[in-house]
Amino acid sequence: MPTLRAMLMLALLLLITPAPAAAQAGLTIADSGVFVVFPDRISFNARVTSAAPITKIVLEYGVDKRTCGDVTARAFPDFTPGTTVDVHWTWEMLQTGSEPPGATIWYRWRATDGTGKTAVSPDVRATWIDTAYAWREISRDGLTLHWYSGEPAFAEDLITTASKGVARLAKLTGVRPQSPINIYIYGNTEQMKGAILHEPSWAGGVAYPANNITIMGIGPSYLDWGRRAIVHELTHLVVGQISFSCGENVPTWLDEGIAVYAEGGLDPRSQLFFDTAVAADSLLSVRSISNGFSQHPDLADLAYSQSYSLVAYLVATYGPTKLLALFGNLRDGMTVEAGVHAAYGFDLGGLEDRWRAWLKAAPRDRVTPTPAPTASPIPTISLILVPTSPPMSPTPTISPALAPTAPASPAAQATPPAPTARPTPPAQRPDITLRLSGAGLAFLIGMALAGTAVWKLLKM
Ligand SMILES: [Zn+2]
Repeated sequence: MPTLRAMLMLALLLLITPAPAAAQAGLTIADSGVFVVFPDRISFNARVTSAAPITKIVLEYGVDKRTCGDVTARAFPDFTPGTTVDVHWTWEMLQTGSEPPGATIWYRWRATDGTGKTAVSPDVRATWIDTAYAWREISRDGLTLHWYSGEPAFAEDLITTASKGVARLAKLTGVRPQSPINIYIYGNTEQMKGAILHEPSWAGGVAYPANNITIMGIGPSYLDWGRRAIVHELTHLVVGQISFSCGENVPTWLDEGIAVYAEGGLDPRSQLFFDTAVAADSLLSVRSISNGFSQHPDLADLAYSQSYSLVAYLVATYGPTKLLALFGNLRDGMTVEAGVHAAYGFDLGGLEDRWRAWLKAAPRDRVTPTPAPTASPIPTISLILVPTSPPMSPTPTISPALAPTAPASPAAQATPPAPTARPTPPAQRPDITLRLSGAGLAFLIGMALAGTAVWKLLKM
């Protein structure tokens, strides 16, 4: 029913803060609110009046999220000069990449008239919400779960699982949330895909650490998968909170390893696959799983299992204090090598040697070097053009529909989190102030594509 959905999507966004008119000696800005066609675009509207002809109107906007520095985008809408001007500007998410449902968008207007007077409207905040669904919510322990499909018991089950998972993670590793988290549960994977524009088609859940938001598609028949996946995604958000940095990213093995650890460990199928790799001396090197995983399903599955095993080793052997020190070192801008060394007294090679000994696997120097798997970096334009935070890329989890079939036991029905690689963030970007207008936008898109190509070459 695309027509009905389109009608439902065209709706006035919930304004979190009122938008009083701004005025300076006869120059007045009356904000008229925003309209959203989710997830494609949001349009901003205002009426500006003055005794003298209005010469310039600027929309300043951004998203409330963790960023490196103050990121404010500026748009310069066209308007017909006059003393009363109705002005509009549309943020085309199809061009820049969408924000996740629940993101908070802020904006303000700045107007100048022919006498040189300038007025600035107060900041307005609006929730970028998927208006196609009648969301309900339930909150517990700093988590708010939004859902629309299923009985209240379904949401109760998920938030209970999520809360217990976060508490268990904190108890075992010391890693705990620092700020509130929002979880959006779509009724199924297809409906979730309708909310995002540039994520992998296989994603069944995506974490947005910079926004403290995760979205997932969980139907009633996939509740077992959903229980594991929700804890997995929440862990990515918590890791983002405690380790956000404008320097190096948290290595993939650490980010994914602690997420699988929080789930409760490997399912029987992945455990068997991992044990076979240990016995066959076919483990991947730690350095090769630090910056993305292979796109090959078997190598990716092994990478997830190894990541879990590495984190399990660090927690079991050295405890929460050193693990927290490692995250703190990464947050403070250390490289991964330096951060590991400062926390544990050995580098990544030393970690691998000790971990292999713990596993009773072959020593590193007797193992045939495994070619580094090709990471699957697909930096999107959104991460370059939108006022967003480059180090914290969305982290997808595989769709339950892609789960391996014919599980060996009921426990094995829990799908492994993602036998495929997560997107790797693009190269670090300096603080920016964007000017998204006309030809400038086309230029920026061209530059972004060129930059992406260069970055991909550098990563190979
Ligand atoms: Zn993950």
